[in-house]
Amino acid sequence: MVCLTYGWLFGITIMGIIHMGLQAGTIPASCKGVLMKALCLLLLCSVASAGEWKQEYRIVTATAYCPCPICCGSNSDGKTATMTDASKPGVAVDRSVIPLGSKLDIPGYGNWQSADDTGSAIKGDKIDVRFADHQKAKEWGVKRLKIRIWTKEKK
Ligand SMILES: [Zn+2]
Repeated sequence: MVCLTYGWLFGITIMGIIHMGLQAGTIPASCKGVLMKALCLLLLCSVASAGEWKQEYRIVTATAYCPCPICCGSNSDGKTATMTDASKPGVAVDRSVIPLGSKLDIPGYGNWQSADDTGSAIKGDKIDVRFADHQKAKEWGVKRLKIRIWTKEKK
């Protein structure tokens, strides 16, 4: 997904530069066709390399947590295991069960949430869902849920 997004952003930026170059007359109009073909190829490559998302369902025990010292102890440095912002939503997983970077649809929490954290107590079918606020995490508590896991198929 990241590859795809960057590919498109890159493509759109280049397209803008080419357009400006044509307007300003710094790029001869005869080059336009070649440049556009190269650009299309680049975009196609970025789509192909992005791979396919595959989905599976799993019954898990989900526990809410927040980045505070009560929930995270000495790990409460405001960053997740993947260095993302721990005050933003995300999910801690056993990476041998759910790969980091997977997207998770969790009833009562949200869809397309990133598996971006780990924890010593998070093993097997346990996951932890992250809240910014300790009170909110306590209210959500612990739930036994069927979640959908989206993983990128490796090529
Ligand atoms: Zn907390």
